[in-house]
Order: sequence, then C-alpha cells, then structure tokens
Amino acid sequence: MAGYSGITAGYLILGDRPCLVETGTATSAPVVRDALASLGVGPGDLATIVVTHIHLDHAGGVGDLAGFYPEAEIVVHEKGARHLADPSRLMASARMVWGDKLDVLFGEMSPTEAARIRALGDTGSVDLGNGRTLSSHYSPGHAKHHVGLIDSGTGDLYVGDAAGVYLPQTGDLRPATPPPDFDLRTALDSIALFEALGPQRLLFSHYGPVDDVQETLERSAEELRVWVDLTRQAHSAGMDLDHAVAMVRERTRERYAALQADDATAEQFELLSGAPSNVAGIIHWLDRVQP
Ligand SMILES: [Zn+2]
Repeated sequence: MAGYSGITAGYLILGDRPCLVETGTATSAPVVRDALASLGVGPGDLATIVVTHIHLDHAGGVGDLAGFYPEAEIVVHEKGARHLADPSRLMASARMVWGDKLDVLFGEMSPTEAARIRALGDTGSVDLGNGRTLSSHYSPGHAKHHVGLIDSGTGDLYVGDAAGVYLPQTGDLRPATPPPDFDLRTALDSIALFEALGPQRLLFSHYGPVDDVQETLERSAEELRVWVDLTRQAHSAGMDLDHAVAMVRERTRERYAALQADDATAEQFELLSGAPSNVAGIIHWLDRVQP
C-alpha cells in the first residue's frame, strides 16, 4: 500500500476452494495476483474473495481482482454490497477525506458485477471445500459493514479492523476509530463476540497473525477506552479537533513503542491508525450520542 510493505494483509486460504480474505488497495491488486500465482493459484482457481469491510485499504482491489479471477464469488456484508457494485459514492466520500492523497494511498476501486456479489447478514458462511467453512460474524463499531471470519479448520479469526491495528515490529496495538461509523458500545460488543468465538489465533489486516488471543483482545478493549476517555476530556474542555488531537497524541505517546522507534515505524502506525482520524471518529460519535 502506497509503496510500503507490511501495511495491508491479504490472506489466502488454500484448499479445495481457495479463498482470499481481503484484497488490499486497488493499487495492490497486481501484487496480490502475482503472489497468488506464485502460490499456484491461477485465474480459474480462486473460488471466493471475501472482505471484512469495504474501506479502501481492505476492499479497494475487489473490482480488479474480480476481473483477474472470473470464477470467484465476491462476499461482503449486506451493508457494503451495493458499494462494491457501484463504488461512486464510496470513492466520492473517500476523495473528500483524503483529497489528492487518495490516488497514492488507495487508487480507484473498480465496480464488481452485482450478480457475482453475495451479501452476508448477521452471520454467514463461505464454503472452503472438504467440509471446512469460514463463518462470518457481523462485528460493527469500526465500520457498520464489518464482519469477522473464523475458519473451522484452524480456528483462525480474521479480525479486520474491529480489534484495532497491530504492529508486529513492536507488538503495539492501537484502536481504529475513524468517522463516520465508530461507536464505542458496538465496538466493545464486537470484541466480546470475538472472545466468545474462542479463536486459536487473530489475523490482523494490519498486520499479521497473533497467537495470544485473550491478552490481545483485552488490550483492544482497553485501547478503545483510553482513547475515548481522553478524547471525551478534550471535547468537554471545548478543544477544537487540532488541539484535541495534539492532547490525545501526547497523552498516549508513551503507550506505544512504535513512537519511540525509528521514524519509518512511527509513520506506518500513523498511516494506519492516525491520531487525527481516531480522534475525529470519536468526536463524531460523542456528538451523535451526547449532543
Ligand atoms: Zn484498515
């Protein structure tokens, strides 16, 4: 993504019915295709492409990859399905948020033929072949079109962004609370749901696998509470967004080894779970629930 490696993960589940979880950005689509080819998955082989949610760092490449893999069914939560078929509104709102940076960061999502899209409800299932399934569980909070997916064969849980952003270099975990959908209550409920599923491993979209499930999910919930508490304080004190961001950034700095590390690692963290986006999302939620 945007020339960085190790930022957005896509996971290939091999088996009778190969399944790709997350596509990454549109600009990453050729990279994903080459990676799949190197693993022996050709144009006719991929059975399913599923995305945890439709944000452009997770689903931006769906349209391009649907073109590369004509047999693949595209699976997404029902609240996101129409945006994959017609990304114009999604792209327009992303353009408003990111401006010219959009082209470098994400590229343009291509539309996917509506007939190839299967929409998931509160729960759903992807057939991985040989009796193995990937079960989806609606998990809003980060985004209203978010699902987690658990593999019956391995107990791997694909958490998308619902448990925050994990940085493997440092073991840091930070919440992902962007506007306009962030909601603390549903975000905490989704983390509790993930715990209840009893996964063996968490597979973060940003970035990589984590074995220590219980401790990590507890950390996810704690991070949310810390950021919400601090943002609430800043907001009640009447600070504008810039001042609130500066205050929350300062007061959380010592929590993250990444911000003590080299500039590149700190930059990576900011790109994926930037303080401005997190604080703006929390304020947006505060204004909605406590006007
Ligand atoms: Zn993301």
